[in-house]
Amino acid sequence: RIVYVNGDFVPEEEAKVSVFDRGFLMADAVYEVTSVLGGKLLDFPGHLARLHRSLSELGMGSPVTDAELLAIHRDLVARNGIVDGLVYLQVTRGNPGDRDFTFPDPAVVKPGIVLFTQSKPGLADSPAARAGWRVISIPDIRWGRRDIKTVQLLYPSMGKMMAKKAGVDDAWFVEEGKVTEGTSNNAYIVKGGRIITRDLSSDILHGITRAAVLRFAREAQMTVEERAFTLEEAKEADEAFITSASAFVMPVVEIDGVRLGSGAPGPVATRLRDIYIEESRKAAV
Ligand code: PLP
Repeated sequence: RIVYVNGDFVPEEEAKVSVFDRGFLMADAVYEVTSVLGGKLLDFPGHLARLHRSLSELGMGSPVTDAELLAIHRDLVARNGIVDGLVYLQVTRGNPGDRDFTFPDPAVVKPGIVLFTQSKPGLADSPAARAGWRVISIPDIRWGRRDIKTVQLLYPSMGKMMAKKAGVDDAWFVEEGKVTEGTSNNAYIVKGGRIITRDLSSDILHGITRAAVLRFAREAQMTVEERAFTLEEAKEADEAFITSASAFVMPVVEIDGVRLGSGAPGPVATRLRDIYIEESRKAAV
């Protein structure tokens, strides 16, 4: 694999990041994951906009221009022959040359940047989407700025491990009885034809796929309610699903062992998945 590190395209074996990089020592870094279908980038402007928001919330600058970022994404996709897959981008506060809690002077220490690809043949044609995911609920003990896409992913990783141990596909975080989101995705329920998903705040990541899916849902005259919903409400829902850049729209068929509806992916989730994949392919760059 060819990866991109601080200005250079190099084989992954030759890529180097300093032990003093703040992304490594302090999780002082933000990231984006953009899907690739048919060699093209999905929702790229959205991911770029959110990257800028994450950087600005942390007082960081971008190490390259937007035009360069798009060019690097495309270059990596081409160099690695990615048809279907992902591009991972990480921007760190950089390498101050020592370990210190205070931020280095941005005029002296430049942000670091790393990109790599992951090949996922048949990404849009997932057998999991035909079966639907089963999830468990776990307490949301993450920090209070979940709207910033930082690389502090230890608890989400632990959540995925709890799900794995329980023999299911993912975990939904619950805070004060209400679902916030999944370990790496936004959560939705469908009740009486209404699509319900938590409203945007610092409690959840502002999903790029979420924004696109809600737009498509409204365009298709579906009713969308952006509000917090309880775990109990979710277990009584007709259907449920999650969205993320890498899973698109994934039906959820079971929560904490409680089967939703018939236990098969619901019509709303299935329809939104088809619309999302079709429309995003059309708009891909
Ligand atoms: N929520 C969390 C906690 C995530 O980590 C992610 C994606 O990584 C999402 C939601 C979905 O965001 P997006 O649709 O932009 O991938």
